Amino acid sequence: MSEIINVEEIFASKVFTLAKMKERLPKSTFKELKKVMDQGGELSLAAADVIAKAMKDWAVENGATHYTHWFQPLTGITAEKHDAFVTHPDEEGRMLMEFSGKELIKGEPDASSFPSGGLRATFEARGYTVWDITSPAFLKEDATGVILCIPTSFCSYRGEALDKKTPLLRSMEAISEQSLRIVRLFGNTEAKKVIASVGPEQEYFLVDREKYLKREDLIFAGRTLFGAPAPKGQELEDHYFGTIRERIGSFMKDLNIELWKLGVTAKTQHNEVAPAQHELAPIYETANIAVDHNQLVMETMKKVANRHGMQCLLHEKPFAGVNGSGKHDNWSLGTDNGVNLLDPGDTPNENIQFLLVLACILKAVDTHADLLRQSASDVGNDHRLGANEAPPAIISVFLGEQLEDVVRQLVETGMADHSNQGGKLETGVSTLPDIDKDATDRNRTSPFAFTGNKFEFRMVGSADSIADPNTTLNAIVAEAFCEAADELEKAEDFDIAVHDLIKKYLTEHQRIVFNGNGYSDEWVLEAKRRGLPNIRSMVEASCALTTEKSIKLFEKFHIFTKAELESREEILYETYSKSINIEALTMIDMAKKQILPAVIGYTKKLADTVIAVKEAGADSTVQAELLKEISDKLAEAKRALTALEEKTAKAGTIADEKEKAFFCKDEVFTAMTALRTPVDELEMLVDKKVWPIPTYGDLIFEV
Ligand code: ADP
Ligand code: MG
Repeated sequence: MSEIINVEEIFASKVFTLAKMKERLPKSTFKELKKVMDQGGELSLAAADVIAKAMKDWAVENGATHYTHWFQPLTGITAEKHDAFVTHPDEEGRMLMEFSGKELIKGEPDASSFPSGGLRATFEARGYTVWDITSPAFLKEDATGVILCIPTSFCSYRGEALDKKTPLLRSMEAISEQSLRIVRLFGNTEAKKVIASVGPEQEYFLVDREKYLKREDLIFAGRTLFGAPAPKGQELEDHYFGTIRERIGSFMKDLNIELWKLGVTAKTQHNEVAPAQHELAPIYETANIAVDHNQLVMETMKKVANRHGMQCLLHEKPFAGVNGSGKHDNWSLGTDNGVNLLDPGDTPNENIQFLLVLACILKAVDTHADLLRQSASDVGNDHRLGANEAPPAIISVFLGEQLEDVVRQLVETGMADHSNQGGKLETGVSTLPDIDKDATDRNRTSPFAFTGNKFEFRMVGSADSIADPNTTLNAIVAEAFCEAADELEKAEDFDIAVHDLIKKYLTEHQRIVFNGNGYSDEWVLEAKRRGLPNIRSMVEASCALTTEKSIKLFEKFHIFTKAELESREEILYETYSKSINIEALTMIDMAKKQILPAVIGYTKKLADTVIAVKEAGADSTVQAELLKEISDKLAEAKRALTALEEKTAKAGTIADEKEKAFFCKDEVFTAMTALRTPVDELEMLVDKKVWPIPTYGDLIFEV
């Protein structure tokens, strides 16, 4: 029998939870802390000292020797600098471990080496980390020992956000404030705040680590830069939801245990569409904590995979020709007294608050489709969005049959007098019960789909932080709510005004609604006719951040200043060029030092064979033909290699970051594809024994 895992007991055992604080803190301190958590404001230094001591005692009891301010710089991943609890020894050489309120609340890492996009010159190194009281501290355990991690914001000396958490927290305050205005209009006087909740489904690949280590492209770029398709791909659809193999299963089990200990509610696990691809989904939680936890999920996946002799690939497109990975960002709004603003109920046509919320969201998504698209772009995601893969780069909203019908009624007649119901599902088998059907089927091709009581934003990349998409969602919806509330609060007849406003918004923005197949070519044309933007790449999406419309939005709600937006755009261009440069150099290295020499060696062998066969008096045409074919491809690969070297060198001479990024996309990336094509063809022609790196078949079918 297998060991029993006591989930209830291990859950959050490494987290300094509210329950632990309640138990360890004096009543008055706990009360003060809870008040700041719920309502904001500043903690007194006295209270911070008490909390710091309790936190340290708990951490030390659990083996911690260090603490760190854990933060999320603009690299998209997390950063930490460890400090031991060690203090000056006394005269007799004794040392008492200490941790003060000041150290808990504020840190000052040397911030000069993080991307700041010009927000801070290198000589102005000062940056501060500030304790995010709303996200619990936790213990990280690895070879370094046990480290107390304190989630923090990261700001410059002048208070500019140098991270992803600060704007997210700002956006959460904005959406809460504006949502409250909406629910107040409908008579909800009790709610004190509205919480953006997020449940991110995380897709990933697992490959054997030994094989991974034999591929420079996986090591340096996180994706394969060469590789012919394996004879089998995902066409049989036999991997999706398939039985989980033993090696993967034991990884998943360990992963769940580690995540549960960290307070992450790992809930769903299954095989995904592509071979070697899997998914994990936690239960949704407050946006801010969901973002922190998603970082922990990604980090823990990598760590646990290594323990199992595997490598976890979070890249959006590790393998050409099979599905890539994304993150479905499920997003919703709920009041602190338990009302989900996105719950339509059984008869949405009668739920005026819901219809107003829906109309505002459609308006927000339509108005800021470019920003939403931008929030989901990263270098890897260019291989999915707009590249013949799910989901398309065009933002549209799927509402489902029931809501689409209600919207149609409202737009056409100004009245919605019914909501279609799902009815019963009849299986035709007498021993199976008839079950209630949802009023709407699902749509897997929509980038932004209504799924019952939440929206599912499916564009987000698998390796990316989910902070940006949620910051953007909160911001654009806050703006729409604000504009609606501005009108409705001053209306003389609320019922008529809200009715008219819903109709107006739906009429003006119904072009964003699309229930059909988002992958089809017809949709691309239809979307163009409707005037919806189709932004095909990360670099083209980046300028959305600094349009007048964007600056007005983000400044109005104090989420980003103009300078912060400009810095982010700059960083995106830099990141793009740097990533493409790494990929290009890796390809050059692999082609020069591994692939071309192997093929050259093989042509020598073939040439020897041709001579030997001829000398023996037999027909050597097949061998000779193969030799010619391979030599031709080899020459083509060599030419493409030289061209790539030239383009890469040229990119290095361009000073302007935007210009360089576009050059990398249009010239360097194109040259990379031109090199990949003949190399992949060569892989299909030469003896497998001489191919110097593990193939797609080795990587994704033999995990
Ligand atoms: P599917 O793959 O069918 O879309 P999953 O169960 O894999 O569904 O994931 C759905 C995700 O949506 C989960 O993380 C779930 O917790 C989350 N979710 C459910 N309700 C809400 C909500 N109100 N707000 C945000 N996320 C939600
Ligand atoms: Mg989903």
